Amino acid sequence: MSGSEEVEVYRNDVDRRDFMKILAGAGAALCAAHLGCSRSAAAAAAEAAAPAGETKAPSTKGPFVSDHEALEYEKLDGGAVHCLLCPRGCTVRPGQRGYCRVRENQGGTYKTLVYGRVCTAHVDPIEKKPLFHFLPGTTAFSIATAGCNVACQFCQNWEISQARPEDLPSQDVPPAKLVEAARRSGSPTVAFTYSEPTIFYEYELDAAQECKKAGLHSVTITNGFIRPEPMKRICEPLSAVKVDMKGFDEDFYRKYVNGELKPVLATIELVKKLGKHLELVTLLIPGLNDSEDLVKAQSQWVVKNLGPDVPVHFTRFHPAYKMTNLPQTPERTIMRAREIAVAEGVHYAYTGNLDGSEYENTFCHKCGKKIIKRHGLYVEEVRLRDGNCSYCGTAIPGVWKA
Ligand code: SF4
Repeated sequence: MSGSEEVEVYRNDVDRRDFMKILAGAGAALCAAHLGCSRSAAAAAAEAAAPAGETKAPSTKGPFVSDHEALEYEKLDGGAVHCLLCPRGCTVRPGQRGYCRVRENQGGTYKTLVYGRVCTAHVDPIEKKPLFHFLPGTTAFSIATAGCNVACQFCQNWEISQARPEDLPSQDVPPAKLVEAARRSGSPTVAFTYSEPTIFYEYELDAAQECKKAGLHSVTITNGFIRPEPMKRICEPLSAVKVDMKGFDEDFYRKYVNGELKPVLATIELVKKLGKHLELVTLLIPGLNDSEDLVKAQSQWVVKNLGPDVPVHFTRFHPAYKMTNLPQTPERTIMRAREIAVAEGVHYAYTGNLDGSEYENTFCHKCGKKIIKRHGLYVEEVRLRDGNCSYCGTAIPGVWKA
């Protein structure tokens, strides 16, 4: 997760009661709790486990038995397995884990160590994801497990994304319990977010299906670094997908993400083709992925391959994780990126993490009137009628009814 949606990590002792209250649905008001990890322990463990190179799997310390078999893998000779979930394609020997730290070869069978193993739960405005064209003004019951299949040097949630599951306190939250908790919180949507939902794929799939059966929406906030077949499968029960497009540059992906751009673009095109609601976010980092040429090329790709109606967000970087030496993104860079996107034909381009920006509002692309007024993450006014601009009647792309 690149960090457009930072999750709060408490620095003091575990506040298990708050977390349990959220799971039990107590306190329906907007609230947040983290199953508090000891930051120092988690941080040290995450640093120790931080991947040094391509497909180098951290070793397992001590027995950690899971009874949940992973999907999307094949068995190889000699007890090894080949993971087919994401493009990294780890080959994992018995007793070892994949790069993401949460999938383990236990005696020749590949197991997920994070099925239902929730390390953080929050009730967030849907705008925090950010999804601006999806049930504006509602909340999303948002959860994550430990782990990630990339290693962004600028990750704002690295304490959970770069940790092993045993390094963070967690709660067992089976899909039915998640649905129940979301319902009680009054949220119409469950969001799989904060770390990288691809790595808790088996849980996400079952939970999204359970949500659908129960009449709840579910959305995924993903880096898009997943193979097409599992992406197709997970898209089926989901209502919306937000993809972090971390930069329009393979070198940037290789150097700062330890991933690849090409499969991410393929995922984005697939989501669009499947007809799911899609929004894109790019965190602009000074000097690394924020050149006008890159933003222009990215915007041209979006319009050509997805059309003009996919909302695009350009968000401001704050120093984090291994990039505390860089300054935050200048406001002008974010504003200019939005201008470039609009000039290239993107209908709905937004700024993010900029206090009081006019471009956190939604303007009808046809008549230019303000149709959703926001202040930060909060929606103050919606001028839509049945999904159409209430001034000129133009259809506005998005999901507007629960
Ligand atoms: S999901 Fe994890 S184990 Fe599987 S290929 Fe990707 S990084 Fe490797």
